[in-house]
Amino acid sequence: MKKADVFEFFRRLAEENPAPETELEYGNVYQLLVAVTLSAQATDVGVNKATRKLFAQVKTPQDMLDLGEDGLKSHIKTIGLFNAKAKNVIALSAILVRDFGGEVPADRDVLTTLPGVGRKTANVVMNCAFGAETFAVDTHIFRLGNRTGMAKGKTPLAVEKQLDKKVPAPCRVGSHHWMILHGRYVCKARSPECWRCAVADLCGWKDKVPAKGEKASARRKV
Ligand code: SF4
Repeated sequence: MKKADVFEFFRRLAEENPAPETELEYGNVYQLLVAVTLSAQATDVGVNKATRKLFAQVKTPQDMLDLGEDGLKSHIKTIGLFNAKAKNVIALSAILVRDFGGEVPADRDVLTTLPGVGRKTANVVMNCAFGAETFAVDTHIFRLGNRTGMAKGKTPLAVEKQLDKKVPAPCRVGSHHWMILHGRYVCKARSPECWRCAVADLCGWKDKVPAKGEKASARRKV
């Protein structure tokens, strides 16, 4: 996809949703870090259900240490891999208290040294909390990058590098959310709704899905 088309792609998604935000609920940067860590292989809806009560009680890393691992587990037991996630959240909270005065560092490389924090989680936190131009490639962004041809790659890192190269300045901070929301609600994994897609004419995917009753030959041309 040409750079001008990439710009147009995001301009249209921005028109539909000018101020996109993560669907994870949080009240401060630390809670965002915890929510994103818990969201690996889980839905935002499932994480929000668990964290609503948790975050009423836990607002800082020290609060989390006071709650303890068993206490945390009792809040998040509906989330997949909760045992390992609880261990990581307690360990990263201890490091934040010990080494960072209880603050979340605004540095991707430092964030990825925390237990349970991979590049994707660090990119989300950098983008959502600190407004950094980072591209957190989750399953939606990976699919969208490859389907549309905007950022092709065999691994999340390859797609991230392509996005970093191709997404122009005015769209860089918001692109993460626009792509996730578009992937979640329109360009779905099994049944993309190409017939109502605002960027269908810019998308390079050959097998666009027509509306019910519409013939494939009536699909919009790329
Ligand atoms: S046209 Fe279809 S495949 Fe392309 S971005 Fe839109 S929904 Fe996805």
